[in-house]
Amino acid sequence: MCGIFGVFNAKKAAELTVIGLHGIQHRAIDFAGIVSTDGTNHYRHAGEGLARQVFNAKALNRLHGRHALGHIRYPTAERQIDEELRDNTQPISGSWRGVPFALAHNGNLTNTQELDNFLGRRPMATTMDSERIVKLIEHFASGDLCADLTKVFSMLRGSYTLGLLFPDKLIGVSDPSSCRPLSLGKFEESSFFSSETCAFRGVRATHTTDVEPGSMLWIDKDGLQSWPFLPPRRKYCRFEGNYFSHPASLTFGEPVSDYRKELGRKLEEYCPAHGADIVAPVPDSARFIAMGYAQSGKSGAYDEVIIRSHYVGRTFIAADQAKRDATVAQKFTFAAHAIKDKSIVVVDDSIVRGTTLRPVIAELRQCGAREVHVRIGTPPIKHPCLYGINTPSKDELVSAKHKQEQIRLMIGADSLLFLPLEVQKELSPNGEDFCYACMDGQYWH
Ligand code: 5GP
Ligand code: SF4
Ligand code: MG
Repeated sequence: MCGIFGVFNAKKAAELTVIGLHGIQHRAIDFAGIVSTDGTNHYRHAGEGLARQVFNAKALNRLHGRHALGHIRYPTAERQIDEELRDNTQPISGSWRGVPFALAHNGNLTNTQELDNFLGRRPMATTMDSERIVKLIEHFASGDLCADLTKVFSMLRGSYTLGLLFPDKLIGVSDPSSCRPLSLGKFEESSFFSSETCAFRGVRATHTTDVEPGSMLWIDKDGLQSWPFLPPRRKYCRFEGNYFSHPASLTFGEPVSDYRKELGRKLEEYCPAHGADIVAPVPDSARFIAMGYAQSGKSGAYDEVIIRSHYVGRTFIAADQAKRDATVAQKFTFAAHAIKDKSIVVVDDSIVRGTTLRPVIAELRQCGAREVHVRIGTPPIKHPCLYGINTPSKDELVSAKHKQEQIRLMIGADSLLFLPLEVQKELSPNGEDFCYACMDGQYWH
């Protein structure tokens, strides 16, 4: 998963971009990059780590100009091997008829092989699918940028939410699916693009609109223009609401914290645990789901008996299972006094490999829990995501290989229930506009 933040027409554009990237840092923590422009030249700095670490005062001093584009990135374990050999940071720089541009991509192309066949044996500086888009823009450079971009986008399959920075303009692009979100914010004369609306407050901007599916939004000195380039075919990522997006964001028109509470209420309605004492989220991601789950009061009261340390790295992408288990053990602390003799409903947003819950449940039992029931806010994930979220391959997905009862035994729970797929699909009034491919296998590209 990645994040994009762009700034047009602001005094300290690069500095504001760092603030913006920090606001969406939950989307990716491995690499950060910014390209800025003073209207003539582009300036670039990128590195490994959190946005605030990569961009110290010295780096910011070199990023001149009133416009900037930033990107944060989170590669899969496999790709990390290549990272040592190539600079896989974004934004990627290119040249359109001698004019410098930079591209930031959130998403994943599904036809890279086809694009490579078209592009022929061109040297590639990175191993990222995104570089193909840069090469295509360079290839189709005719003089009419809008026509060129339209031609390029019609060749791409999969998901591509983009930021494009030229010396005199900033462009936000959403593919016809709008699988990954991109929003526009304003503050006085300045405009901002962000993967999530939660980052606007940090730069004092107000969210004004989203980049529509199949269209690009151009910002230049004359203002704002929208150019539709392909008919919309909405496939909003359902997992953005369930897990990825920040609770304070308005993603695909839905306030994420409200959506998660509603998800939790439905989860309790269809998968109750009547008579339980405590509803405990696996923090942080399942908090709002657990709040909704506890709302009726029939399946226990909300209590945070599992407490997360914020000084441990992410468990999800640790290189092997032993490392993942070890990190999980360090990540959580348990309020033993509140757990002893209690019947506990553990709520998590999803089960992917099944790594998190086994040690969590073992620890709850060590603390004297009487019963441990597990309720999961996302239906079983049986298929890998092709569109920019790094779910592992099918044979690592525990729900692809094992029945629910086997998984219950593996994690050591007294009961295990997932939100039913039909309920998930009807959670939003416009449920048909969402992608559920990791749950139902219905890929759309
Ligand atoms: P599991 O432990 O089953 O492999 O993964 C499920 C846990 O990882 C859940 O607590 C969920 O919040 C988190 N999770 C689910 N999907 C992702 C993802 O794409 N990236 C990261 N970092 N965590 C995830
Ligand atoms: Fe999101 Fe799942 Fe669709 Fe991927 S497959 S875009 S994670 S809903
Ligand atoms: Mg989690």
